Amino acid sequence: MKYLKKIDPQIFKAILGEIKRQDGKLELIASENFVSRAIIEAEANVMTNKYAEGYPGRRWYNGCQFVDLVENIAIERAKKLFGAEHVNVQPHSGSQANMAVYFSMLNVGDTVLAMDLRCGGHLTHGHALNFSGKYFNVIPYGVKRSTERLDYDEIRRLARAHKPKMILAGASAYPRIIDFKKFREICDEVGAFLLVDMAHIAGLIACGLHPNPVPYAEFVTTTTHKTLRGPRSGVILCRKQFAKKIDREVFPGIQGGPLMHVIAAKAVCFKEALNPSFKKYQAQVIKNARALSDALSKKGYRIVSGGTDNHLLLVDLSDKNLTGKDASRILDTAGIVANKNLIPFDRRSANLTSGLRLGTPAITTRGIREKEVAKIAELIDIALKSPKDTKVLNTVKKKVKKLTRRFPIYKDLMMDLKRA
Ligand code: PLP
Repeated sequence: MKYLKKIDPQIFKAILGEIKRQDGKLELIASENFVSRAIIEAEANVMTNKYAEGYPGRRWYNGCQFVDLVENIAIERAKKLFGAEHVNVQPHSGSQANMAVYFSMLNVGDTVLAMDLRCGGHLTHGHALNFSGKYFNVIPYGVKRSTERLDYDEIRRLARAHKPKMILAGASAYPRIIDFKKFREICDEVGAFLLVDMAHIAGLIACGLHPNPVPYAEFVTTTTHKTLRGPRSGVILCRKQFAKKIDREVFPGIQGGPLMHVIAAKAVCFKEALNPSFKKYQAQVIKNARALSDALSKKGYRIVSGGTDNHLLLVDLSDKNLTGKDASRILDTAGIVANKNLIPFDRRSANLTSGLRLGTPAITTRGIREKEVAKIAELIDIALKSPKDTKVLNTVKKKVKKLTRRFPIYKDLMMDLKRA
């Protein structure tokens, strides 16, 4: 980055600071990960210069032979990875992937059944300020109070009562397996389309460590930057019969020119995910999440639904005299990054929350395993028990530093930057 350093030292310094922050802290935000150097190189290149409105072989501009190559490779790899009939790799984000499906299949005012945001649903699943809540009649379904798991009988009852045109399965903060077959049965009963938003669990699905929604759903959307460990972006998978409608809705419906440098990085992400080593990584992500859940549970923290089947867990702090907001701030001062999160039937507002969402994709990428996870649980416990004791928090911070030094991330990138 010697050119950047010379032309814009402020931005160079901020990027250097961000690399050091990522390397020096323990990243437990469940939706984040660390991409490979190959993905960084694929994304930071001259394909950013190219306008490529349209699709491979059918572009509005000339000079698309190389970006066509890249987009076709990305599509074929994603098809193989998830067993999909048709793939659109152009959505700029997960939100835009969802928007394209809503707008292609629904009319404004149509009814959709989706996961309640207070039980783990995403903004695009019906938040009042989001396009989904503004333009569609979204009926939320939640989890059962006694189990904190999806209640398929209740979802069926709501579907029969409201006759939605589309049912959306998938979440941002749900730690258990989702039964897509049951969703399909409910959809068939009421004549609804099934959209599965697998953004959080796409990496697990790619490796067969969570059931695949593709055989059951007409539409599957995902982000590429969470467990899938690719660049920040989105993808839509759908059945062949909807291919034209989806493609037309992405472009020209809701987007202009695709970000070809990001599509190049997505292609690399899919290649990495097709490698057998990716399954080993995902299996370790789940093992680490379980280890974190077990260790915190032994220390007296209640884990929502009693544990986890995937890459994340929700810690209930309502008996700890701590809000999720306070807890995440305290942990950050100690070098541990996590986010506040509503828990099912939370009595606090979304700004405060009673929960903490913890995920293991990023720490697993840097090589951390169960033994170190037990240590991390201990550090979390120490920090949360002494929220005002600077000395204790500093000691935790030092221990976090020691751990991150044992498992460095982007060591070579940092060396390159120092040389610049
Ligand atoms: N869907 C789910 C389930 C998510 O958790 C997220 C992001 O957190 C999105 C969609 C949206 O992704 P993006 O932030 O890329 O718009």
